[in-house]
Amino acid sequence: MTGILFIVAAPSGAGKTSLVAALLQRDPKLRLSVSYTTRPPREGEVDGRHYHFVDRATFQAMLERGEFLESAEVYGNCYGTSQRWVSEQLASGTDVLLEIDCQGAAQVRRLMPEAVGIFVLPPSLKVLRERLERRGTEQPEAIARRLAAAQGEMRRVSEFDYVIINDQFDEALEDLTSVVRAERLKVARQMERHGRLIESLTK
Ligand code: 5GP
Repeated sequence: MTGILFIVAAPSGAGKTSLVAALLQRDPKLRLSVSYTTRPPREGEVDGRHYHFVDRATFQAMLERGEFLESAEVYGNCYGTSQRWVSEQLASGTDVLLEIDCQGAAQVRRLMPEAVGIFVLPPSLKVLRERLERRGTEQPEAIARRLAAAQGEMRRVSEFDYVIINDQFDEALEDLTSVVRAERLKVARQMERHGRLIESLTK
């Protein structure tokens, strides 16, 4: 049985990273793909856990060898998802989550239309701005750039299967957990997982 591929995208500041971290803690069956990036690590970020931090030459070489399932340039840095890691996990039946931007999400959906797209939105532009400012990791110009980019990204909401409004964190986490759970309960999946039972009940 192949695993399910979940894609979680959001404009930066929507709270996607915290939501995904909480989901992964709750759901040990779900594995997060660790992306490659040319962005330098922020304080507290660990190589191999938050990202694989690589230089541009390494990233470019990987890109040319076709090692990325998707890749994108976001705010001047390159990001990419390992094709091999994702396909190995899915083939072994593990459900995988990609926490990527909208450009990457669109690339994956083109290649793998069965992937489940989840878009996380902030409750308002005001809250989005406050969250970006509070994070304190960016300069004011970078915040303004991210806000403008966020508005462009949010127009792509209809490309996704699910939308989660991250107003109250706990509620948004319940929503995210529910999406994962519901996808696992789809008939085609349950037929694979409980084929013998369903067969015996429907004979
Ligand atoms: P940050 O630099 O703040 O960690 O991430 C910036 C943006 O890049 C976020 O929207 C994040 O989800 C996205 N991102 C992280 N990894 C990948 C990836 O492998 N591919 C793509 N397309 N976007 C990514």
